[in-house]
Amino acid sequence: MSDSEEMRIVKEIPQGGIILEEKPFVYILCSKFRTERCDFCLKKGQLSKCSVCQYTYYCGRACQKEGWSVHKLECQYLKQIRPRILPDAARMLARLIKILEKGGHNTRSFYSDKKYRKFKDLMSHYPNLKNDNPRMEHFSSLYGVLYEFFRGESLPNSAELMGMFGRMCVNSFSICNQELQSVGTGIYLAASIVDHSCQPTAVVTFEGTTLIMRALETLPSLNWSKIFISYIDVMASKKERQLELEQTYYFTCQCPKCINPEPVIYMMGAACPNSDCDNCIDSASVQSNDTCSKCGSVITGEFIQTFWDVMEMTCTHLDSMKETIFLDVCKVCLKKQKGVFYKYNVKHIKTLDLAFDSSIEFAKYDDAVEYGLQLVKCFHEYYGTYHPLTGLLHLKLAKLLLYQNRPGEAMGYLKSAKDILSVTHGTSSSLFKEQLVPLFQDIMLEGESW
Ligand SMILES: [Zn+2]
Ligand SMILES: [Zn+2]
Ligand SMILES: [Zn+2]
Ligand SMILES: [Zn+2]
Repeated sequence: MSDSEEMRIVKEIPQGGIILEEKPFVYILCSKFRTERCDFCLKKGQLSKCSVCQYTYYCGRACQKEGWSVHKLECQYLKQIRPRILPDAARMLARLIKILEKGGHNTRSFYSDKKYRKFKDLMSHYPNLKNDNPRMEHFSSLYGVLYEFFRGESLPNSAELMGMFGRMCVNSFSICNQELQSVGTGIYLAASIVDHSCQPTAVVTFEGTTLIMRALETLPSLNWSKIFISYIDVMASKKERQLELEQTYYFTCQCPKCINPEPVIYMMGAACPNSDCDNCIDSASVQSNDTCSKCGSVITGEFIQTFWDVMEMTCTHLDSMKETIFLDVCKVCLKKQKGVFYKYNVKHIKTLDLAFDSSIEFAKYDDAVEYGLQLVKCFHEYYGTYHPLTGLLHLKLAKLLLYQNRPGEAMGYLKSAKDILSVTHGTSSSLFKEQLVPLFQDIMLEGESW
């Protein structure tokens, strides 16, 4: 069948329709969840250890049995290094080496009826890698770790290993659970054909380790050059996004959002000193004694100084909270930002987002509701309506509001959550069936008792 014939029989893909469903070529569970989640299916549960290496944990015999085809390639080595933990990148590379050695080079993953990719079809970015000092340092330390891990056996030559490392760096997906927390890393051969856009037309979620790509808008046909996902968090300024894409994936983004002038003004914006005015002040160009273009308030040098002080403080704290979030630190930052940062300032939204998650974690539900309600319009603004994070935020708010005995408002958010999540996750997803649907019943019951 020729290409054009194939194109003709491919139907339109509706919004929320599945574009691709794929099992990983290779994947690992994040080592920080080693004793909390099953090494095979990545789910939480009652776990038992592999009796040989005592390193990996499984939720049951079925997973242990299915996981053995790959685990048997590493089990004896993991046993040797106990009680040390292999860093994630090393474990992934170790599995990759073994899988390729066992014939993985021939594995084909199809992205259309007739077309497929093999591991060697992934881009290795060899020349970029050679000039990337931090990555080369990472590579040489990994080489050392793996040399010790395999006790000198099994290691391919360094050029070959670098080809694997390069493909791994540029093509890995973070495997998230349905609540969008990253629990693992995997390489998906077919899905890696999809390019990036800061304004994506498709989105990826995971059901266990299975990657599911859905259309965020109606696509006229399965045309891979028109399908884009976002590789990065798009809640960032153009400068930040482009830097991340260049450093991690070695390309300069040419998406519509990067080409057209961006409203940087409000991404890094200051509030108007007049609290009754909702204008955004361009922090990059404002000078002492300038006036607000909307209300005419004078912007003093002191106000500008305060803005930059709060910005510096916020960035320092956001950076330091990459691993652990401190609710009190978020609260201090939010207090300082009040009246100084514009409502859509990305650093303000990042702080709010951390405060929201942390409030839920510490069961401070009143705070969580307050932050969540503020986040809604920000998420719509940056992620758009049909984004998994926007859908999840609505779902969390529905739960929180129900908990606060506000069933009417809860229902409103739940209906929006349903609308969004049926596109991003699908109505057959575990999130939809196990969380969203039962919540409808809970809210209706609560509503009746009022
Ligand atoms: Zn399992
Ligand atoms: Zn084992
Ligand atoms: Zn872009
Ligand atoms: Zn103003």
